[in-house]
This record gives sequence, structure tokens and C-alpha cells, in this order.
Amino acid sequence: MLQSNLFTKTKKEAPSDEVSKNAELLIRGGYIHKEMAGVYSFLPLGLRVLNNITQVVREEMNAVGGQELHMPALQDKNVWEKTDRWDDAKVDNWFKTNLKAGGEVGLGITHEEPLTQLMTEYISSYKDLPFSVYQFQNKFRNEMRAKSGIMRGREFLMKDLYSFSKDKAEHDAFYDVVKGAYKKIYTRLGIGHLTYMTFASGGIFAPFSHEYQTVSPAGEDTIYIDEEKGIAINKEVYTDEVLAELGIDKTKLKEERAIEVGNIFTLGTRFSEPLELAYTNAEGEKIPVFMGSYGIGVSRLVGAIVETLSDDKGIIWPDAIAPFRAHILALGDNAEAHTKAVELHDMLAGQGIDVLCDNRLGLSAGEKFADADLLGIPYRIVVSERSLKEGGYEVKRRTEEKGKIVKAEEITSFIK
Ligand code: ATP
Ligand code: MG
Repeated sequence: MLQSNLFTKTKKEAPSDEVSKNAELLIRGGYIHKEMAGVYSFLPLGLRVLNNITQVVREEMNAVGGQELHMPALQDKNVWEKTDRWDDAKVDNWFKTNLKAGGEVGLGITHEEPLTQLMTEYISSYKDLPFSVYQFQNKFRNEMRAKSGIMRGREFLMKDLYSFSKDKAEHDAFYDVVKGAYKKIYTRLGIGHLTYMTFASGGIFAPFSHEYQTVSPAGEDTIYIDEEKGIAINKEVYTDEVLAELGIDKTKLKEERAIEVGNIFTLGTRFSEPLELAYTNAEGEKIPVFMGSYGIGVSRLVGAIVETLSDDKGIIWPDAIAPFRAHILALGDNAEAHTKAVELHDMLAGQGIDVLCDNRLGLSAGEKFADADLLGIPYRIVVSERSLKEGGYEVKRRTEEKGKIVKAEEITSFIK
């Protein structure tokens, strides 16, 4: 991609009503556009990041046997009435609307109800179980506060996986497999070192749910971390009784603010009973299906990564999700530098490397460096009269102070 063709431009300032660091940097970098409070567009650069995160999550969901599907955002009121979650007194963040033809629909806050309903047509025998399905879907929630930028959207992208098992033992085994997948996901996304599996409130089918919390002052939650065990406890369930139950020594815990980037639940038969999702076992008895749900805030993760991996100059994308691998900067309006920069761009792109080339004319070196720091692409390759005189290009990591001169034929192996 030649930067002269990219329609977004970096901005000096974000909208004045934007208080969060993630949205400020992402808007200034041209990754996202603010439509209104809690509602953001993903522009080409931001969509690349969102898609890269999605792909990591998709690979790990496929690895646990999840099958991808896609459900509509419009949801049938009748199904939600059966589980008693339609009433605004029970669920206070619905967006609901009326159909011209009569009747009411909701914009999906989550998909347990419609998916359980759907499965009644496909699950009937013990031979149909266990299995799991997942999707990437925009959820709509009428959030009271939308002050955390893209971390708390009124419309946001979630990955939701749902599992269907014959009984609790089968469910528990799969639940543990998903825990393993979540650990891999956050590690691959570059925030594994900051992210803790956190005990949170459960329900009648399990004493706890498990949140994945990324330590950051921008987080809305408070957690207590046991560094040795690599786990944490959410403040909402932090009692002496719970600590004893989990065998955790209170004196070892460290209090931190954190961002909830995922949450996994044992649903049991909470939805299968009211919606009559049951299977027949080998003895011919009808048994309700035992379910679990497993969420990841995909768009929130973009914000969480910016909050945690950035410096005073801008974003620092982890390699796995960066919009481009390398950012070529053609410095000065020197014709040879520009020709060489575009040649290098074409060569790297030809080798399947995602590369952005700042070939814009009329900008100072300082302006180009500042933009590159803001955008946060992992490798920077400077092409200037000076680097050409020194026999190549100056290559450095976004986070390094100084680069080194690398010859054209060695560039690929250097950044691969
Ligand atoms: P929170 O406690 O932050 O309100 P939640 O417990 O309601 O979230 P879940 O229903 O468990 O969230 O949704 C799964 C994941 O979706 C969450 O772990 C979070 O990462 C993400 N998420 C939830 N609400 C939002 C939102 N308004 N904007 C962006 N991401 C969200
Ligand atoms: Mg939650």
C-alpha cells in the first residue's frame, strides 16, 4: 500500500469529547472514526488489525473443534420471553424496535437464546453430542456509559462460542480445553504477559465463571492477582471464603485495574430447559443439553492492546496483529530515494509481506517519523539520500532508538 493512496490521514487531534487513550490514538492514526458516543467505524487500517485478531481467534476456535456460523443481529422477542430475558426490568441494555408489519424485535445483546432455539432442530440424540459452534458478530448494548473508547461500544464485535454437551463431566472437559485455547489466543495477541484468568461470579451450575483480564489503569474492573499461580480474583467475588476455597494466600495478592477481554461461562441447562433443547440417551430418556458459552471482545481487544502497548509517541502493535509488517519511509523529496522506496515496496509486496510505503511528497522527515511512531508498525525502513550513500536502507524496530543499514538483498530475511 502506498501511503499517498491511503484515504485516511493522520490527525493532530482527536475529537474533544474523546477521553480515552485508545480511541484518541486510533482516531489520530486513522484506524477508526467516531460516529457518536460508543459507535465507531473501522477504517482500512483498523479493519486490518481487527481482521488479524479475528483470524488468530478463529484459528484457535477451529483447533478446539468449533464450527463457524453467522447468526443475524435481529432477534425474535418470543424466544427471549421463554427465558424471561426480554423484559427491560430483567435486562436493561436492549435496543428494541418495531416491525412495520407488526411485532417487536431486538438487536442481539448476545446469542444464547436464538442459538439454543436453532439447535432444537438439529440435536435429538446422544449421538449428536458433544459439539461447539462459534461466530464473529456485532452485538448491540444500550450501555449507560461509553467513556472507554472502543472498549465499551454500544455496537461492538464479539466472538461467541457455544458448547453443547451430554452432561457436566463432558462439559467440564471441553471447558478446560477452551481455557487452554484462550491462553494461546492472548499470548499470540501479544498481551499474554498482562492477561490473567480471573475467577468471577458463576451461577447455579458452577461456582465461578472465568474472565480474562488484562492489567491496565484504563480497565473498569479491579482484580487481585496471584503472580505465582498466574491467576486472579475479581473484586466482585473477593471474600475470605472464596480465597480459602481456591487455596489462595491473601498476603500474596496484588490489586490491579484490568480490562475484561473475555469471559467463559458454564450455562448448564439455564437455556436448554426453557427452550426445550434435549436429547435422548441410550436408554431412551430425554435429558436437557448441558451448555457453555465463551466470549471474547474482539473490538475491545483492539482498544486494550493500544492501551497497554503504546508509548508517548503512539501505538506499538504486536507483530501478529499489526496492520502492516513494515513501514517504508522515503525521506526528503529526493527522486532517487522515492524511486528506490517504491521499488522496495513492490519487491516486498511481491514476496507476500504486508508493507506500507510513505511516499508522500512535501513532508519533513520529522513529520514522517511522527506519523510512523503514531501508526506503530513493527519494522521501519528509512530510504534517504544518506542511507543510499551508506549502501542500503536503515531498518529498525518501532521501539528501537537507532536502526542499522541493511542492503536491499538482505531486507527480506531481516524483517521476516
Ligand atoms: P462488561 O462486564 O465489560 O460489561 P460483560 O460481562 O457484559 O462485559 P460478556 O457478555 O461476557 O460481557 O461479553 C463477552 C466479552 O465481550 C466481554 O468479555 C468483553 O470483552 C466484550 N464486551 C462486553 N461488552 C462490551 C462492550 N460494550 N463493548 C465492547 N466489548 C464488550
Ligand atoms: Mg463479563
